Amino acid sequence: MIENSDIRAVTFITDKKNKFDLSEDYLKKLKDISPKEVIDEAYDYLINDIRNNNLTFQISLQEENYIKYLKEENILEYILYRYKFKEYPKKKISTKFPIYILIEPVSSCNLKCPMCFQSDKTFIDKKYMGKMSFDLFKKVVDEAQKKGTKAITFGSRGEPTIHPEICEFLKYLKGKFLDIKLITNATKLNEKLIRTIFETKVNLVTFSIDSEDEKIYEEIRKFGKFNQVLENVKNYNKIKKEYGNCNTITRISGVKVKAEQDEKKFESFWKEYADEVSIKKAFERWNTYNNKKHPNFTNPCRAIWERIYIWYDGKTNPCDADYKSFLSYGNVNEKSIEEIWNSEKINNLKDKHLNNKRSEITPCDRCGIY
Ligand code: SF4
Repeated sequence: MIENSDIRAVTFITDKKNKFDLSEDYLKKLKDISPKEVIDEAYDYLINDIRNNNLTFQISLQEENYIKYLKEENILEYILYRYKFKEYPKKKISTKFPIYILIEPVSSCNLKCPMCFQSDKTFIDKKYMGKMSFDLFKKVVDEAQKKGTKAITFGSRGEPTIHPEICEFLKYLKGKFLDIKLITNATKLNEKLIRTIFETKVNLVTFSIDSEDEKIYEEIRKFGKFNQVLENVKNYNKIKKEYGNCNTITRISGVKVKAEQDEKKFESFWKEYADEVSIKKAFERWNTYNNKKHPNFTNPCRAIWERIYIWYDGKTNPCDADYKSFLSYGNVNEKSIEEIWNSEKINNLKDKHLNNKRSEITPCDRCGIY
């Protein structure tokens, strides 16, 4: 029985009890009722970890919230996906295909927050800016679905909702993956988009809003209008009620960049509008390339094992801390995701990280994320 939840800085607004049975008996029961194709080597790793009392994998409240909407025969698939997502990067096990893909519909943003790469003037240049075509999006999604990706997030460098076809993108994803997430600053949250979110069963919507105070918010979220965002979030919640017991979890997430930001006030104001509220310290990623080198950073970065980013033009990357793609693995317009994920380029990057040579790679030598 897992007693603790891996909640880190997240405050969960839930009345569910903080326990989840991840015993061998329970997993065996799930195996008996799950479709055969979902059982893979992760099942054995998980059982071994339980037998050897070596299980560091925990079901968080966020995951528990998710599981409550699943049919029982789909729970094992979800648990194995979360096990791979959390444990494989720690154990340095490589999957054959990325289980988690982050897609960037656009690289630009309508805001210019100081803690974001959008405030790097050398980045907001024509050569980095653009929007993904529907054809490229479809190509990525079709391969990801066929080869077993479990989770897709819309996010990365730009604001996804400014893509004119964002609703069509969401509709195309519907029902194809276990976990679909949208990260947005909520400034463009109109009724059409809100209804599409619920109708396409997006699992998690994260609103990036850093304050409950209009003045502080507008200082941080440059060009954002607090009252407009609040209206949008209220409207989102009003419409959500029409969808009854819908599976979409709402998170309001803040980045702490100013001393005046009060975490308690933030939480107490926004909890009325979300299932989860969190505020975290900003990572050094708004100007990665000019960060000071961190000579003591030798630990391998989990992002390389955990995820792949696909940007609007098809370029792939391990992370968005490297927002100018020094580390790009290649372009999905030229190769399949599978070829890229198993390429020499990514294996070399893994080797360097595993062999304490992270300091030889820019920007891994100065990255504030991992
Ligand atoms: S730049 Fe940072 S987040 Fe990206 S792969 Fe390197 S260490 Fe990881």
